[in-house]
Amino acid sequence: MSTFTLSTTQKNKPLLLSKGFSYTIDKTTNDRTYWKCEDARNLKCKGRVHTNNINTILLHENDNHNHNGSAVSTEIRLFEEKVRDRAMNCNEATQTVIDNCLVNLSDNAIARLPNFKHVN
Ligand SMILES: [Zn+2]
Repeated sequence: MSTFTLSTTQKNKPLLLSKGFSYTIDKTTNDRTYWKCEDARNLKCKGRVHTNNINTILLHENDNHNHNGSAVSTEIRLFEEKVRDRAMNCNEATQTVIDNCLVNLSDNAIARLPNFKHVN
């Protein structure tokens, strides 16, 4: 059984993270949510995932990606979400928020942070 994590994008849309890939909702039906790889448009990637309609069970995962997944990217997505969350709910300066969230980040992810541009 595959595990996955639900997060949100910076636009507050649901984001599904699995095996280092990120998915956004393609469409929903009464009993399923259809997710597409976030690179579906950029790279014409065909990676798709289906979950049940409340997004608790992974029903299908085709692993049909034309690029590599990255555990570090997943980690950074979760980091970004945490920073946004904290920035919204705590009365802290941006730098303090980032410093507090950096504590749990791996060295690999921290090395990638110069590319990190979503905090403002
Ligand atoms: Zn993909």
